[in-house]
Amino acid sequence: MLCEKFDNPGKVSFTTIPTKLDGDMTEAQALTRFAKQAIELGKLQELLSAAGTHALLVVLQGRDASGKDGAIKSVAGAMNPGGTRVAAFKVPTPEERAHDFLWRIHKQTPGKGEVVFFNRSHYEDILVVRVHNLAPKEVWEKRYEDINNFENLLTDNNVIVVKFFLHVSKDEQEKRLLDREANSEKSWKLNPSDWTERSFWDDYSAAYDDVLERCSMENAPWYVVPSDNKWFRNVAMAEVLIEALKPYKAEWKASLAKLGAEQKVALEKIRAESA
Ligand code: ADP
Repeated sequence: MLCEKFDNPGKVSFTTIPTKLDGDMTEAQALTRFAKQAIELGKLQELLSAAGTHALLVVLQGRDASGKDGAIKSVAGAMNPGGTRVAAFKVPTPEERAHDFLWRIHKQTPGKGEVVFFNRSHYEDILVVRVHNLAPKEVWEKRYEDINNFENLLTDNNVIVVKFFLHVSKDEQEKRLLDREANSEKSWKLNPSDWTERSFWDDYSAAYDDVLERCSMENAPWYVVPSDNKWFRNVAMAEVLIEALKPYKAEWKASLAKLGAEQKVALEKIRAESA
């Protein structure tokens, strides 16, 4: 596994995990490897979609400019858009705020046969909310357990849950933010608040440590992806997703074979009747 997996509650200090790895690959090798992975991912998604017995939820979290959009573009891009959706979670609207914090999230979860990528998620409610005191501690403190219960509910209903934290260094983030300023093609991504958020770097680190510590479960693991190298990030994420889906391959193929056999019988019956 190219990135670290957290699937049990326990003390974590993720800042000791490197942000930049190459996995013994050159960029060119990584691109070739990703192209192969993309084909495999596409096939797995096709099976998931056709079998219609499971769903896949991919949760993406990360600091500003950690590459959430790029990761979705690359990894979701390997799949058939017909069976894939992206849900982005921003500052809650008044209607969303009038409900419990999982209300807007639950509505966007994937149905059977579907893949959904969350660009930010319910975890914002124990990250930005905690860092900026948007709710009292007694409110957000309960949410770790609410989230674990919610994710258990999803996995009990055949949703495969994979959570990625895109891990970038403070220097890499600065480089990317400055690049947005300098490059007119990227300046639309400029958001002055990204610089303000940067000053809360350590508070976010502590909040992410608690997320990993308290919301890592065997059935809904977190993966910390070294993301300074975008090409490494894509290969690492694709590897995790392939590993998460592969165990179901035989089951999905068997249910499709059964479906195919039933359709053949139905077709033969129609032919016999019309002969
Ligand atoms: P992004 O940074 O994801 O590309 P935006 O610049 O629109 O997109 O930022 C979305 C903002 O919404 C982020 O600052 C994020 O922290 C904030 N946000 C998301 N969920 C919540 C929430 N539940 N409560 C408060 N703010 C939130």
